[in-house]
Amino acid sequence: MKETKDYKPESLMMSHGYKPELSEGAIKPPVFLTSTFVFQSAEEGKAFFEVAYGLREKEADENLGLIYSRINNPNLEIVENRLSLWGKCDDSAIFESGMSAITTVLLEFLKPGDLLLYSSPNYGGTDHFIHHFLDKIGVRSVCFDAKDSKEEVIEKIRKTGMSQKLTHIFVETPANPTNALIDIAMCKEIANEFSKENEEEVIFTVDNTYMGPIWSNPMELGADLVVYSATKYIGGHSDLIAGAVLANQELMIRVKTLRTFLGNMANPHTCWLLSRSLETLMIRMEKQQNNAIEVANYLSKHPKVKTLFYLGNLEKNSKTYEIYKKQYNSPGAMISFEVQGGEKEAFTFLNNLKVIKLAVSLGSTESLAQHPASMTHIGLAPEDKEKFGITANLIRLSVGVENTQDLIEEIGQALDAIS
Ligand SMILES: *Cc1c(COP(=O)(O)O)cnc(C)c1O
Repeated sequence: MKETKDYKPESLMMSHGYKPELSEGAIKPPVFLTSTFVFQSAEEGKAFFEVAYGLREKEADENLGLIYSRINNPNLEIVENRLSLWGKCDDSAIFESGMSAITTVLLEFLKPGDLLLYSSPNYGGTDHFIHHFLDKIGVRSVCFDAKDSKEEVIEKIRKTGMSQKLTHIFVETPANPTNALIDIAMCKEIANEFSKENEEEVIFTVDNTYMGPIWSNPMELGADLVVYSATKYIGGHSDLIAGAVLANQELMIRVKTLRTFLGNMANPHTCWLLSRSLETLMIRMEKQQNNAIEVANYLSKHPKVKTLFYLGNLEKNSKTYEIYKKQYNSPGAMISFEVQGGEKEAFTFLNNLKVIKLAVSLGSTESLAQHPASMTHIGLAPEDKEKFGITANLIRLSVGVENTQDLIEEIGQALDAIS
């Protein structure tokens, strides 16, 4: 007979990690609004603390006992166990935002004097943290982009004169908003190369917010850690802010220990919402992808659309297409496109949307549209906007679960409004 451990994650999302008999038989986990947990004996309290503080390893059949909700809480543990199934990894950690997940990883794996290699363009918050916080504490950084070959990236690292201090690689792919792709396996090769010649191992993290956890698993492609803004697809309903880190045991212990002392874990209510979201993660993302494929096809033929950036419409035999095939099992549901004209025409399009909401963020049940040049990417220097193709006529669309034909008609009438 098939064991439940062999079931696919989507079959286990409704029940995994929760024991009804511990909650009066309730089929769904209650929200455990409690700050602290009662020990059955002083000996038990001591045993729980020894494990939590790393004074001894867990016994084979021992779970980390519940102590205090900054360290662990049933709602937190349920989502973490379920998300680990999607990531096919030992463990995951849920944070109060994507930014707290990202900054905790960077703080744990970098120290003053180290060099960070990162891909550009990356999320504005990540970019700000690298340049305005890490730099202040003496962590240096060097960036590369999707156009650079492996040799060119290595050259950039060596040119800093600090290559022996490289300890972390942080990559975001596909890049926001144009879907440019970074080769994850290439980054792993670079990490391996410098791990060999340097004293410290180079740890490699991928921000997989755009494609995960359904459409890509960066750990299978060589990443040591994967980070998410769970505000996006994982939460998926535009009603919470959360983040996640996935990794194998050894690295996860370090991330969770720092989280305990920064105190930036997600609260029980957010975790409860996330466990509800995970039940529909796959069907939501499948519907979003199917809608996006249809919308992109429609856009690709529309005379008011100048250029389309969608992974489903890549030129075959291009370098980007090769990376796409290797890393992703879906073109995703993020589309960007340039309308004919400039900012005025882009704004006309946005102002004529009805069901599609004019808002930043992505990955939600409702479709969202925004103007990167004046909204999410307004802070970029003009030359960087040009380099990354963030033009005045560029629109970014996050496709939701609405009726396909309704979406296409709405986009059509908004494009027709451009004179
Ligand atoms: C939104 C986002 C973040 C930040 O996550 P928050 O949940 O808003 O803190 C980081 N990376 C990417 C790619 C994002 O889209």
